[in-house]
Amino acid sequence: MPVVDLRSDTVTRPTPAMREAMARAEVGDDVFGDDPTVNVLQERIAALLGKEAALFVPSGTQSNLLAIMSHCARGDEYIVGQRAHTYGWEGGGAAVLGSVQPQPLEHAPDGSLPLEAVEAAIKPDDAHFARTRLLCLENTIGGKVLPLDYLDAACALARRRGLASHLDGARLFNAAVALGGDAREQARRIAAPFDSVSVCFSKGLGAPVGSALVGSRELIARAHRWRKMVGGGMRQAGVIAAGALHALEHHVDRLADDHRLARRLAEGLARVPGFRVDAPQTNIVFADVQGPAAAGLIEQLKAAGVLATGLYKLRFVTHLDVDEAGIDRAIAAVAAVVGGAPAAAAPVASPAASSARVPD
Ligand SMILES: *Cc1c(COP(=O)(O)O)cnc(C)c1O
Repeated sequence: MPVVDLRSDTVTRPTPAMREAMARAEVGDDVFGDDPTVNVLQERIAALLGKEAALFVPSGTQSNLLAIMSHCARGDEYIVGQRAHTYGWEGGGAAVLGSVQPQPLEHAPDGSLPLEAVEAAIKPDDAHFARTRLLCLENTIGGKVLPLDYLDAACALARRRGLASHLDGARLFNAAVALGGDAREQARRIAAPFDSVSVCFSKGLGAPVGSALVGSRELIARAHRWRKMVGGGMRQAGVIAAGALHALEHHVDRLADDHRLARRLAEGLARVPGFRVDAPQTNIVFADVQGPAAAGLIEQLKAAGVLATGLYKLRFVTHLDVDEAGIDRAIAAVAAVVGGAPAAAAPVASPAASSARVPD
């Protein structure tokens, strides 16, 4: 029996069609700006998200770092969520490499940063304080989709107070698909109020490597310098850019399948005694487990061929390489490990604030 790997949507392998597109990719030296496939990808993702320019980078961490370093200078600060990747999961890079300090804020239960709290955190112009320069949001955040009118209002507040705005949209296309309608239009709509947006090709889109930062030509020119400095200048990167292009073309709309499987998993887990499951909005399912079932559960599931993550909560992520049969096996394995067969309908709990500390 193959393992059902629900640790992250980063675990996907390139499909045969994607590998073929990568093998056929036209390449050049991208440090000279000569790689035609990288250039096409950058033009395409910039146009898709309604921005002037884009930069292809090896990882989402680097994309966010370049964004923060391009918006802020030494001694500046960015406002960010306590649970945001750009605060807690990037090795403190903005502070270490950029000399830019984070000002973390608590999230509301829906994942947003309350606007009153954002406004209150903007420092006055005073030599005691770091200069508040940037608002960083994340969408999806813990699998939750931030409302469009919230994004508009947050960016309007930032602009009014002289701050730039950056969106960590590692899973932006999951948010776009969850909103319904044309996914590309929704992606552009989500990106619209932000000065810069980072998107990952290596999460739900299923490419092996790569992210892009999009924004104005001027901002991307600054980011390009920082990319070189941090060692992100790649040479015949068209090979991996081709995987990202293939993903953009073929793997956006199918994210709806991942969301459907996440709901199936949540409903199944909610029937397991001791499980309290947050109703998933996209491809991430969080579950609280009470009682003796909780101890060693991740290890026991691993022995049963189901991989999950989580410290305070269990986390399962659906993706391109898991199907309905895999989800049903995961539910059965959890039920077996916990020791009770799935019982009759227990409701899936409504989404709640998640304290989960889990990787990517
Ligand atoms: C995965 C992820 C990133 C970037 O991760 P890399 O592993 O560096 O590509 C950034 N933000 C969020 C929200 C993520 O989930």
